[in-house]
Amino acid sequence: MTTNEKKSALDKIAQEIKNFKGLEIAKNAINGVAGEGNVDAEMLFIGEAPGKNEDQTGRPFVGQAGKLLEKNLNAIGLKREAVFITNIVKFRPPENRDPFPEEIAACKDWLDQQIDVISPKIIATLGRFSMAKFIPDVIISKVHGQARFVDFMAKKYIVFPMYHPAAALRAGSMMKLFEEDFVVLQNLLGTKAST
Ligand code: URA
Repeated sequence: MTTNEKKSALDKIAQEIKNFKGLEIAKNAINGVAGEGNVDAEMLFIGEAPGKNEDQTGRPFVGQAGKLLEKNLNAIGLKREAVFITNIVKFRPPENRDPFPEEIAACKDWLDQQIDVISPKIIATLGRFSMAKFIPDVIISKVHGQARFVDFMAKKYIVFPMYHPAAALRAGSMMKLFEEDFVVLQNLLGTKAST
């Protein structure tokens, strides 16, 4: 796919998300949040769901968690614009509660299409909900910072589970682990995806 083809495929998905009213959280949203970034990115970040700031702006990770994500990206020499950032669920759950399985299911096809269109080398999952999409039945504290190859929609990706930045903001011990995992991520960018 050319860059322009990718852009128009992702725009179409964003438009569908904007018009979607099939979930309570979609009906109540100020904005659906499709995701944003470099359509040719080698690295795709997948978070959980929009929070208040994201709902207001229609952009992913623009609140405190987003600032921390951006700071750590910068620390490994990446600009936010160089990667693509999206979420498992595209609408804000009330009071930032955990997303329900039916909400994840309703947003699944959009995310699958986004992954397939962008075809990044590395998928970094932020938190346990996006991790579970690729690596079920594991505990984040045991597997964060460990890359693995995952076959997904007939392609091979490096999946890199990370703590959610909001978790890092809550606990200093996790902040350290979150920052250390970014260094691993930086090294992964030089790794070949096809083994
Ligand atoms: N937390 C998330 O998981 N996603 C966002 O977009 C913002 C905060």
